[in-house]
Amino acid sequence: MIPPQFEYYRAQSVDDAVSALRAGGEDAKALAGGMSLIPVLKMRMSSPPLLVDIGALQSLNYVRVDSDQVCVGALTRHRDLMSSAVLRDALPLLADTAYDVGDAQVRARGTIGGVLAHADSAGDYCMVSLLLDAHIVTTDRVIAAQDFFEGFMETCLGSDELITEIRFPVSRGPHTYIKFRRRRSDWAVIGVGVQRSLDDARACRIGLTNAGFTVSRAPEAEEVYSAGGTADDVAAAAAAHASPLADLAGDVEYKKALIAELTRRAITEVGAQ
Ligand SMILES: Cc1cc2nc3c(=O)[nH]c(=O)nc-3n(C[C@H](O)[C@H](O)[C@H](O)COP(=O)(O)OP(=O)(O)OC[C@H]3O[C@@H](n4cnc5c(N)ncnc54)[C@H](O)[C@@H]3O)c2cc1C
Repeated sequence: MIPPQFEYYRAQSVDDAVSALRAGGEDAKALAGGMSLIPVLKMRMSSPPLLVDIGALQSLNYVRVDSDQVCVGALTRHRDLMSSAVLRDALPLLADTAYDVGDAQVRARGTIGGVLAHADSAGDYCMVSLLLDAHIVTTDRVIAAQDFFEGFMETCLGSDELITEIRFPVSRGPHTYIKFRRRRSDWAVIGVGVQRSLDDARACRIGLTNAGFTVSRAPEAEEVYSAGGTADDVAAAAAAHASPLADLAGDVEYKKALIAELTRRAITEVGAQ
């Protein structure tokens, strides 16, 4: 599989990248780790006239803890996240999530900003950003994760807008992310994340990975939890209201059964009421 022809430009700075994208027109694309974009090009699902390579912009590769938030540069690679001592201390869920992304090659090249911009509903950080109420900083604005994902591989990003940073609140309260896949290097068939509130024992957030066209929360299941439902009740509500898609990994019934089981385990792990 050979990609269609494109012009290539290696950006020297964030401003330089934005100018190049603007000059390249609305079909020009940023290239970060290339782990999703290059396969898309090889399958000829997209044919941008210009790729603006931002992969060498080291200023966007960092993890910082800033009082009550963890700030992660958009070009931080999965491997850097999983091995960051700062992150493991402040937000272990994110470090663990990075450890479970793809295989060693993908973790060495792929970036957190690339996962969010690609907006695959199987993208682990997409769900984690919703679960933890993250904010996505771009060259133009700050966007709440709940407003960022708009549909099947669609975000609200403009064509010349780059993600520069992701801000996660330092997590307060028990949380977990359980991901089911056939082989270690596979994407999630289904994933379920749960974040329980420390302030309100009857509140929790539940996020679903690869359970529909886009990543989502499970508001009906969250309500059942708030109303004092058991882990089984919450699990049943999550499965009943989800709309997973049938694919080679399984049919809808199988995926709903997985949503129920993973939700039950996750709720039990963070402490069912
Ligand atoms: C075999 C395999 C297994 C994988 N398994 C998993 C998995 O288990 N979980 C998971 O979450 N992911 C998985 N991935 C995807 C991987 O995490 C990629 O790193 C990610 O999807 C894209 O990141 P990237 O840096 O490679 O972005 P690229 O491929 O370079 O870009 C992807 C898209 O994002 C845009 N983009 C990139 N960076 C920015 C930015 N800063 N601002 C605006 N737009 C930007 C690009 O223009 C492009 O449209 C897997 C990939 C492969 C090949």
